[in-house]
Formats: sequence, structure tokens, C-alpha cells
Amino acid sequence: MNIQSILDYQALDLQKVKLNRELAKRDEYVQWQHAHEAMNQSVEKVAKMNTRAAQLFAKVDMLMEQFNAASKEFDEVAGEIDGLGEDLKRAEFYEKTLGKLESLMEQIEKEAAAAENELHALGKEGAAEINAANKNASLALSYKNKVNEIKAGMSGQIEQIGAKQKELEERIDPKLLNIYRNARKQIKHFPVIVALREGKLCGCGIELSGAELGKLKDGEPFVTCPTCGRLVYKPEQ
Ligand SMILES: [Zn+2]
Repeated sequence: MNIQSILDYQALDLQKVKLNRELAKRDEYVQWQHAHEAMNQSVEKVAKMNTRAAQLFAKVDMLMEQFNAASKEFDEVAGEIDGLGEDLKRAEFYEKTLGKLESLMEQIEKEAAAAENELHALGKEGAAEINAANKNASLALSYKNKVNEIKAGMSGQIEQIGAKQKELEERIDPKLLNIYRNARKQIKHFPVIVALREGKLCGCGIELSGAELGKLKDGEPFVTCPTCGRLVYKPEQ
């Protein structure tokens, strides 16, 4: 069976891959990727800051509630002391309670101040990060436009390759084409279809078994290398 058509098809696939590689090496493309990546990182950071800020706001709310409760209790105890008269023991106990409440409120105030400081810092940091994200977003967009221009310049070539492949698709056994496409997805590098070397070796250098070589002799267009997944064919002598 003549497998030249599918080899031609593979060659056209390789041309497409080469065009894409060329594009990926262009400075505009590299810069676009960098800006895009930097923008994503900033967006991720801002999201984390937002989460932290929400936690801090909730904490401040909780501390305020605690402070109000302690303050209310303080007022109540202070009121009790006013009505005590000569009961010194009880007065001493209440004074102690007031002291404890006072230090509790101080502690709450400290914690709230720390949370507010962190919120303030987060606000500044967040604004800077949003700024960076915006800058990188517009940078990414301008590079993307340049990349699209380059792509448009390549579109003629790509269309030509596509048209040739379409032509070939009509001539190639669909089963073969399918095997090739699946193998291509799996091994992800070229060439996918390789000629048998020295009558027995796959492109990866592994010797094919007698059974596999036998299939080739029996007229199978190619066999799948059990080691690397390449499709091996027997070249015409
Ligand atoms: Zn192999």
C-alpha cells in the first residue's frame, strides 16, 4: 500500500507546527505571554487580598461587638458600685471586675487597631496591584494586536496548507488518517510516522519484534511501536 499521501499529510502538519513555532518565538508573542502572565498574577494577588480584607472586616465587626458588650457590662458594674454604700468587700470585688473589663477592652482595642492597620496596608497594596494589573492588561492587549497582525500575515500560508490537506484527506483511507491523528495527539512530536531503520529499528532505536515486522511484510501500512507510539512503515526498496 502506498502511504505517500499520509506522509505528505504529515509533512503539511509539520509545516503548520513550524509556523506556530516561528510565531511563538517572535518578540511580540513572548511579550504578550509575559504581560498576560503578569496580569494574571496581579489579579490572583488582588483576589487573595480581597479574601483577607473580608476576613479582617469580619474580625473588626466581631471585636466591636465584644467591645460594646464589655463596655455595657462596665457601665452596669459601675452603677452597682454607686449603690453599694458601706459594703466594702463587695465594692472591692466590683472594682476588680471593672479592672478586668478595662484591660479586656484595651486588649480588644489593640486587636482592632492591628486589624485596621492591616486593612489600611492591604488597601494601598491592592491599589498598586490593580494598577499593575491594568498596565499589564493594556500591554497584553497591544501585543496581542501585534500578534494578530503577524497571524494575519501568515494566514495565506496556513490556508494553503489547509487546502492541500483537505485534498489529501479525500485520498487517504480514513482509518489510516485516524490512526495517524491519534498517534500524533499521543506522541506530540514529529515525525509521527517513521521509516523502518536497518530493516528492524523504530525511529526511537528500539528493535521491533518479529510479529510486528511480520505485519509490515504482510502489507500493513504501518505498525505502532510499543515503546514510543510512533507509526513505523517499511520504506520502498
Ligand atoms: Zn519507537
